[in-house]
Amino acid sequence: MAIIETEALVLRTYNFGEADKIVVALTQAAGVVRGVAKGCRKLKSRFGAALEPFTLNKLTYYEKENQELVSLRQAEIVKSHFDLSSHAETLTGLAYMGDLVIEFSPPHEANDNLFRMVKACLEAICQSPDDLQVVLRYFEIWLLKLQGYLPDIRRCGDCHQEFNDTSGAFLNLDLVLRCRGCSQGPGSALSKKLQTQLRATQKLAPQPFVQASHEVPEVVRREFAELTHQLIGRVLERQPRLRSTFQ
Ligand SMILES: [Zn+2]
Repeated sequence: MAIIETEALVLRTYNFGEADKIVVALTQAAGVVRGVAKGCRKLKSRFGAALEPFTLNKLTYYEKENQELVSLRQAEIVKSHFDLSSHAETLTGLAYMGDLVIEFSPPHEANDNLFRMVKACLEAICQSPDDLQVVLRYFEIWLLKLQGYLPDIRRCGDCHQEFNDTSGAFLNLDLVLRCRGCSQGPGSALSKKLQTQLRATQKLAPQPFVQASHEVPEVVRREFAELTHQLIGRVLERQPRLRSTFQ
């Protein structure tokens, strides 16, 4: 039996038995972990309060060999994010993020970049809840990238020429981005403004990305949402349970 202490972000919880919960958390030490938290639904349980979705914790758990479900022993709040729970749209956005992290991450596989990215996105939502959709686009692009599903956004997938004003950038049905010549007609053209946005996700942390996105027109925001929706749908081979843009 191993004891593990790690920073962790609670993604989702289910009631279990009389007073227990099953908790799905993204941990820094071991990626997505599912665990039982015994007695955490008792009144005034500090343990329970620390296991609310999107709470950042110092989590202690035991794991046994060959058992997927770990046993959660202690959770100390690092940041509660309780202030976010009063906005329905924010809550839906967070649930959407949690769902996608669970869908895209093999259990018990540490991914420090993923952990830090999700934490930074959550921080950006705290700082400016009104920019939820902008942060979600950033999150989607990085989730795709970190799990190896993001097409090259700088160069043509066939001839590897860097995209520029004359080459254009076309998304083909196989979800590869190609230049005008290699795309040979089919495929949907990405607007220049969207290409700039995509490149900005690669250079900036979530909060500066939000700042840099304030002047982006609505039509480009919609184009961006449509692109990530298509890419994610293709990876999952279905549409996510929650649609990111909530329309
Ligand atoms: Zn090409």
